[in-house]
Amino acid sequence: MRRFFTAVTVTMTIFLLITIFAPDFSFSESENELFKNLDKVKLQTPPTAGDRSVLKDKIICIDPGHQRVGNKEQEPISPNSQNTKPKVAPGAKGVVSGVPEYVITLNIAEKLKGLLKDKKAVVVMTRKTHDVNISNVERALVGNMIGGEIMVRIHADSSLDSLKRGVSVLIPSKKSINNPILAAKSRKAGEIILKEVLEITNADDLGIVERDDLSGFNWSKIPVVLIETGFLSNPKDDKLLNSNSYQYKLAKGIYNGLIEYFRN
Ligand SMILES: [Zn+2]
Repeated sequence: MRRFFTAVTVTMTIFLLITIFAPDFSFSESENELFKNLDKVKLQTPPTAGDRSVLKDKIICIDPGHQRVGNKEQEPISPNSQNTKPKVAPGAKGVVSGVPEYVITLNIAEKLKGLLKDKKAVVVMTRKTHDVNISNVERALVGNMIGGEIMVRIHADSSLDSLKRGVSVLIPSKKSINNPILAAKSRKAGEIILKEVLEITNADDLGIVERDDLSGFNWSKIPVVLIETGFLSNPKDDKLLNSNSYQYKLAKGIYNGLIEYFRN
């Protein structure tokens, strides 16, 4: 009798776990024998091919770069550094449009937030308006505080060479964050997101760039990437970055990348 109750309890627990984790739940080959009967339950759950539910309950922090008014006050570049940097740089401005970077980054971030929330991700934005005063260190601390699983920082680039165009993804260097796992996860996310963004936008590939000088990276305790979505100093990129449909493409690329990141 006691054995029976144990068996019932174990079975119910397994069913409960399946209910909780379905439809993402699946068994590995080695567990097949043990869960042979329960496999039928798995087959009854809706098909997950193409399903974005991998994002469900994932805590994702989005940091739309910059703000209406920059802040030149200094803050330490990393927790153990004497070096300092301005709290928030003013950001770039469209060479033709005149539209500031902080407007474009928030527009893309809002679109990304919409896509992620549709799939039940928990999205926290470091800012929702332009009239804030949040330093790059404070933005990193938001990601840490909420126990974020990843921080996506959205920026646009600028160069003295007005012909320069394309997308790059910045990631923290192993040395600067002194945490190989965090560095590896950030690199993995960066590579996947860059690939997905390039696929959807056809932008020039400027690759992955390791940075050890960004306070927004060095203070982060969660995987973090910064996507440079294009060059506001280039007339063509400026036009694209100001278009609703291109902003959506960028958001969709990042979103696809996050799905791939969490799936693997
Ligand atoms: Zn920027």
